[in-house]
Amino acid sequence: MFEFSSIEQYHAQLQEGNATCLLAVNHYLQRIHATKHLNAFIEVYSEEATEKARQLDEKRRAGNRLGKLHGVIIGLKDVICYKDHKISASSNILKNFISLYSATAVQRLLAEDAIIIGNLNCDEFAMGSTNENSAYGKVVNALDETRVPGGSSGGSAVAVQAGLCMVSLGSDTGGSVRQPADFCGIIGLKPTYGRISRHGLIAYASSFDQIGIFGNTIADVAVLLEVVAGADEYDSTVSHKEVPAFSKNLSADKKFRFAYLEEALSQPANDPEISAAIKKKIEQLQQDGHEVKAVPFKLLDYIVPAYYVLTTAEASSNLSRFDGVKYGYRTNAPGVELIDFYKKTRSGGFGKEVKRRIMLGTFVLSAGYYDAYFTRAQKVRKILTEHIRLIFNEFDFILLPTSPVNAFKFGEKMDDPIAMYLADIYTVMANLVGIPAISLPLFKHSNGMPFSLQVMANRFDEVSLLQVSKLLFEQKSL
Ligand code: GLN
Repeated sequence: MFEFSSIEQYHAQLQEGNATCLLAVNHYLQRIHATKHLNAFIEVYSEEATEKARQLDEKRRAGNRLGKLHGVIIGLKDVICYKDHKISASSNILKNFISLYSATAVQRLLAEDAIIIGNLNCDEFAMGSTNENSAYGKVVNALDETRVPGGSSGGSAVAVQAGLCMVSLGSDTGGSVRQPADFCGIIGLKPTYGRISRHGLIAYASSFDQIGIFGNTIADVAVLLEVVAGADEYDSTVSHKEVPAFSKNLSADKKFRFAYLEEALSQPANDPEISAAIKKKIEQLQQDGHEVKAVPFKLLDYIVPAYYVLTTAEASSNLSRFDGVKYGYRTNAPGVELIDFYKKTRSGGFGKEVKRRIMLGTFVLSAGYYDAYFTRAQKVRKILTEHIRLIFNEFDFILLPTSPVNAFKFGEKMDDPIAMYLADIYTVMANLVGIPAISLPLFKHSNGMPFSLQVMANRFDEVSLLQVSKLLFEQKSL
């Protein structure tokens, strides 16, 4: 019988001979098989993972140097390339396309002895908040099968939630790691924009996209970040800053300065239990001697519109490469002219939500509307960035809910895209500004579902973010 609680504990078990990588892989393969209905995985690399586990067990027994992620079993969102494995962004337009190279993050995982167990379902091209927009069908929340797991990295969240792998990678353009982590009751980290290379991450909105990490403990998330982060010649937007040893720097016995956004906690759209729990947490932090103050924030109503104007604009450009010539699906309608070929391929290959966003993005970039939408949204982004910079002159962290509500029921928001977009209100800010943010599952709702506190830190201050996360997370289990 194999049981996983943290990477550190797993490594101790391996060293003591109480577990093997093979035992662990077999355990997860069985779990994945038994929970197929959750639909978290698109493909499971059973044979390959088993073989890799055998090799790693050999390596350990031979006394060779072990990687930081020796035998750690990881799932990848279906937007992160792994050489010679299928990658489709959960879209029909890329069905059966095979990665020609591995993402830098994946290469780094493998270089530290990780075992990739499979690729994980998500919303098509990472567009969505429920994982209902996938060509492979919806993913189910393991805590309540009538509810969505969140999105777009729903498969990555459920894989960790349901114990189908130890940790997983997702991507977060506007909340797609933090919100499903919130809906599923696990930890989800979106690092600073530029912390992790985007080479090999299928682009949705390039100035927002960032690979993120799901896990059950802060230490697990920290060690993964440490491995995948850092300069990369294939991504010119990635930072050259040295990557701190996050996992060795998790303890901090200090008093922090927290800001919270008054307007976010008095939002009528919030579930009252969520606002109340966060207010209570704030009081508790004050009692513990931390400084926690409300800061006015008049921009709340602008951030979702700015996010959807800018990301759809970037998406309309990024997704223009899927034309049926270079990749994946192409129409088999006979004898069509080139323009018709593009139209038929793209109409048939993309799903409804992706098409909606390509059209929206094309519209906001069109000559007559560029200034009215795109330029204005960019101004909002600039003002917001400056505003947040000023907050971080005085505070270490900003506290927010991750989501105004907890996991929706299936179908609840599918007919009303605007309502679905508005639920991203607390997550998109970190991507507009490029700051790191984490979702910590500290609370339980009276409906039985978990919900989280979101903590944001200054750019490249993941060290403090992980320290405070450890503090908050450990208090929870007291
Ligand atoms: N729900 C947001 C959207 O649909 C977030 C997506 C993401 O972070 N990939 O755009």
